[in-house]
Amino acid sequence: MRKPIIAGNWKMNKTVAESRELVTALLPKVKNAKCDVVVCVPFTDIAAVAELTKGSCVAVGAQNVAWADSGAFTAEISAAMLKEAGATYVIIGHSERRQYFGETDKTVNMRLVQALANGLKPILCVGEMLAEREGGKTEEVCRTQVVGAFEGISAADAAKTVIAYEPVWAIGTGKTATDAQANETIGYIRSVVKELYGAAVADGMRIQYGGSMNAKNVDGLMAQPEIDGGLIGGASLKADDFAYIVNAAE
Ligand code: PEP
Repeated sequence: MRKPIIAGNWKMNKTVAESRELVTALLPKVKNAKCDVVVCVPFTDIAAVAELTKGSCVAVGAQNVAWADSGAFTAEISAAMLKEAGATYVIIGHSERRQYFGETDKTVNMRLVQALANGLKPILCVGEMLAEREGGKTEEVCRTQVVGAFEGISAADAAKTVIAYEPVWAIGTGKTATDAQANETIGYIRSVVKELYGAAVADGMRIQYGGSMNAKNVDGLMAQPEIDGGLIGGASLKADDFAYIVNAAE
């Protein structure tokens, strides 16, 4: 049995004051959660949110991590910095990083290696663009991204990773993959993990769906056997909506 994991990706939203307001509203609403709950917040919010969520069921994540320990990497944030601020999870390879900031399978791999070496729990994002889905390339794209991300990573480390399957055409667009599309592609991703690391790692790995997941579609998506939770963008910015999704995931 895989324990579901619901993670919010706040992206570049919420000042420290706003983050305190959102988390203060959220905590009582998710106190009986039966899944793992994470909020991946802007770097500047991590310490404040970690302080507020201490002793609760909500863990704090970052949205990226540097591949190096320290040094001349302007604007990057190291794993040690994230941990000191209170993050325990980190999103790696989000499609917005890949699209707008030049993230490649190689840099995703380097960041994944670094997160795992430092005991941060990675949420690795993979997923195809609309033209790739329409061109019948969904599986090829997901395979390339998964194989590239895990290059040189041991089975023991891979097992600590959560994968988020996020079709790029469904992110922030209000379009959701159908339950069947999401289930099928996540099943395919699990088969790639099985090829790389064997059945035990593949069967134990939590693979989320992400892409306009909300209070209306969460039940159908979570009822799918391959889907182990969600990475939630827009709907994670409202305490009621995010709490609804969390409480729907058992
Ligand atoms: C995301 O950013 O990972 C995401 C899934 O966003 P949204 O839920 O807004 O589509």
